Order: sequence, then structure tokens, then C-alpha cells
Amino acid sequence: MPTILVVIGLVPFFAGRTLLTSGLVISWYLAFDAGNGGLNFRSALILTLGVAVTAGIDYGLTKLKPWARELLTATLTIPKELEDKFKVFAALMCATALISNENGSRLQLIGALVIVGGLSWLFTKLRSNADAIFETLPVAQLPGVGSAIFLVELVSTIAGVALAFLAPVVSVVLMVFALIGLALVAAALRRFRDGAREACVSCGASVHQCAGACPKCGTAHAAHCVGVLGRPTKALVQDESRHRLVLLAGHRCPRCADGLRGSHCPACKLDAFRDDAEFTAFVRYVDTRFAVMTPVFVALGFMPVLGLALALVAYRLSSAGAFAGYADWRGKLGVRVLRGAMLVGLALVQPVPLIGVAATWAYLTLSHVWTRATVKRTLVDVDA
Ligand SMILES: [Zn+2]
Ligand SMILES: [Zn+2]
Ligand SMILES: [Zn+2]
Repeated sequence: MPTILVVIGLVPFFAGRTLLTSGLVISWYLAFDAGNGGLNFRSALILTLGVAVTAGIDYGLTKLKPWARELLTATLTIPKELEDKFKVFAALMCATALISNENGSRLQLIGALVIVGGLSWLFTKLRSNADAIFETLPVAQLPGVGSAIFLVELVSTIAGVALAFLAPVVSVVLMVFALIGLALVAAALRRFRDGAREACVSCGASVHQCAGACPKCGTAHAAHCVGVLGRPTKALVQDESRHRLVLLAGHRCPRCADGLRGSHCPACKLDAFRDDAEFTAFVRYVDTRFAVMTPVFVALGFMPVLGLALALVAYRLSSAGAFAGYADWRGKLGVRVLRGAMLVGLALVQPVPLIGVAATWAYLTLSHVWTRATVKRTLVDVDA
């Protein structure tokens, strides 16, 4: 039964880039295997429609007003892991479409679906756990890291899907190794993160050492100061409102010190900013950090090409680049377009003395001001 091996080999890629994998599978069959008892036109259509509909629902849910999403979450069992369910569902759709074309019995099909469903559920869970932990680490905030991961995943998906068809046995063996590797990575990430946590004295929930309160029960916790790379220091917080600003600048909840989603804390179910005054103080704090970093940006401008990359890393790692975490997708897209245009401009002025040096600093200033305007607009939209 080579088809079941092909499907099992595809599982990791459905857990990762689901839509891309579905597209690759359909294209593969249409191109190479159409008349071969492989995927017929009807199955391809069902697979495409199924994936498109679930992707549509998935996308629609992210666009809902917060209250409507809360209502759906409360009445139906559609938690945030819907995306995970979508991935498992897509893998099952693919298995059904591929296997139902073979002359196997109904029992074989059901058995295959159980195996594929179980494996892809396991994979998706492990992957989203590792993702969630990774996002709370400061490394995830670096500008290149996101695109590097995206690119690696894109290439490995294309290569992996081809391998699943050409050498099913090899790809199943690789899948087992990937499963073990993913479990090890998730465990290592969790150990790194939990080194900075302790149990709540009143409810036992896991609380970050930099937290001022337990996100579950609200019991006050003596917060530790934020040190290098967002790790807690031994010292306890003296100035609470400043501690809140430091956490906000790291795109972390000022109350529980865990990662924010946009300007909202999923653990505390609270908005990041206590009030307008705190937002104003935050803007002033970040602008001050930017001013402090300016000599570094100017100095890095002396270095051709690499200087800009280093300046961008310094910008994002320091609190100077804190606005970026609060920008919505439109704002992020705008910054990306601006960055593209500026890089072209920068390449042109780089050889010119003095102007070339100022260009890196000018670029960062422009994108800083731009992101700040975007964040202000986003947060005003949220209030309305
Ligand atoms: Zn508690
Ligand atoms: Zn403590
Ligand atoms: Zn929180």
C-alpha cells in the first residue's frame, strides 16, 4: 500500500504550510498521475473545495469582532486551536482523496484515516506548542528570523512533498525523525522558558518571575526586574509603572509578563495598556530609547551594507523598536514596502560621503515614525 506511505510522509507538511502542501499535492497528481488511478478530477475538486472552505472559515474567524469570537468560543467548541483542527482536517481530506481511488476495502480506508489523523494531530500539537514557546523568546523578535524560518519551511515543504511521492519509505522514516526532533525542541524550549517561572502561591499556575500578578487568579506576585534578553534578574521591582513600560517595550503583558497578541494579553484577557495615559507614557519611553540608540545607528552607518542589517537588529532588539509589535498587518506591510524602497535608495546614496552615513539613521527614523503613527491609529481603532 504505497499510497498510505505517501500520505504519512505528507503529514509534517500539512502540519506546517497547509495550503501550500495541498496545492503541491493537487498539482503533482494533475501533472504526473492523472490517468494512473491516482487523483481523479472529482477528488481533486473535492480536495480543493474542502481546503478552500476550511481556509475561508479559518480566515473569517480571525476577522470577527472580539465579542463575536468570544460568543462562538463560549457556545461552540471553536477555541483558538481551530487552525490546528484545520490542518488535521486538510491532511484527512488529502488521505481520503488519494486512498479512495485505490481498490482497497472500506476498512482499509478507515484504518488509514485513523493513522493519518492521529499522526497529524500529534504533529500539529507539537508544532504549535513549540511555536507558542518560541514566540515568547526574544530571538523571535529579530527582523530576519521570521522570514528565514518562512523561507526554510517553504523550501523544505516543496522538497518534502516531492520526496513523499518519489521515495515514500524514506519520507516516512524522515517523518519519524522529524516527530522525535520536534518533541525534543519543544522540550528544550520549555525548559529554557520555565527557568524563568515559578508556581503561583495561591492557585499553583505557572507565573513568570517578572509578573506583578498571577494571570489565572490575580494574586499579587513580587515582580523581578527585567534583565538581559528579557530574562528576570534577582532584584525586585521598585517602580511599578516603569516596570510596566519595560515589559510593554518587550511586547509582553505588563501584568503577567507573558507575550502579548497585538495589544491584548490572552492569558489575563486584558488590554495591554491600562489607560490612555499609560499609552502616552509608553510612546515617550520608546522614543527616548530611540534617541539613546541614535549614536549607535549613526556609527553603524559607516559600515557599508552590513551596517544597515546590524542597525536593524539593534533597533529591534532594543526597546527602541518596540512599536513594531503593536502594528497591525497593514502597518507591518507598509513598513515592509517602505523598507524595500529605502534599501534601493540606500544602495544609491551609500557611496556618497556623509549622506551615506546618515542614510541608515534616516531610514530607521523614518520607519520608526511611520510605525508609531500606525500603532496610534491601530489602538484608536481598537478603542472605537
Ligand atoms: Zn494564581
Ligand atoms: Zn519571585
Ligand atoms: Zn497578561
